[in-house]
Amino acid sequence: MLHYDIETNEIFSLVAKVCAQLILLPVRDQKQDKAEPEFAQIIANFCKCPWDQITAVNAEKDLRPGETVEEYTAVFRQLIADVTNLFHQVIEQQLEDTSISIRPDWKEVITPDVFSNIVGMFELNNISLDIPTLATMERLSQQEPAERPLDGQYSDLVFLEGTGLYSIICTMNHSCDPNCVVSFEHGNSRATVRATREIAAGEELCITYIDVGQSREARQEDLSEYQFVCQCRRCLANDSEDEEPEEEEEKEKSMEEKQ
Ligand SMILES: [Zn+2]
Repeated sequence: MLHYDIETNEIFSLVAKVCAQLILLPVRDQKQDKAEPEFAQIIANFCKCPWDQITAVNAEKDLRPGETVEEYTAVFRQLIADVTNLFHQVIEQQLEDTSISIRPDWKEVITPDVFSNIVGMFELNNISLDIPTLATMERLSQQEPAERPLDGQYSDLVFLEGTGLYSIICTMNHSCDPNCVVSFEHGNSRATVRATREIAAGEELCITYIDVGQSREARQEDLSEYQFVCQCRRCLANDSEDEEPEEEEEKEKSMEEKQ
């Protein structure tokens, strides 16, 4: 059985909201003056991939004895089928008591394949939200940057964690030597992109998708889920600094704590 954890359920809840927007769209468009970028257009801008294909990458290390990758990914496909079915049931129930009209072909629009592709789109494009509450921001502002606790050592400070698809930020490419960082400075989900160094005219703005404090091998393994091979300056260089595994044990420990 797959562990139905809170994070997975929250992703499904977000995907269901995207699906609901997609089937409501024709109605919404009649009321809007089209000044806003169309929701479907924003969604169309991002690459998609079935969720079980993403889970198949690096699946070997999670397989149980005797289990095949095919059997492993079948669990994810079944989960998507169940959740899509649930989505259909909920929409039908909701429609009984309202006058909201949605696309008549909505059941053909929201299929398990579409649901799976949107989960995959989130996996490939979303950024993590790590939002300090206003009280936490106040506390942090009283400390010198060097005295602030490192990631994962906040103890009594409160951060809101989440995931989000930002229409511009999530189109930024990855670099293991990024020239920009995403921060949350307003006590809400409003994201800010800040330069971390001088950027030359014409230089691409990049953020990082992973922990860049790791060895090249560990970075490339983490990036394999995003289905590209990083060609950044650090990955292409023959620097010996990038060969040294940094704090691998620490990383594995924190991964275990997260699960
Ligand atoms: Zn790289």
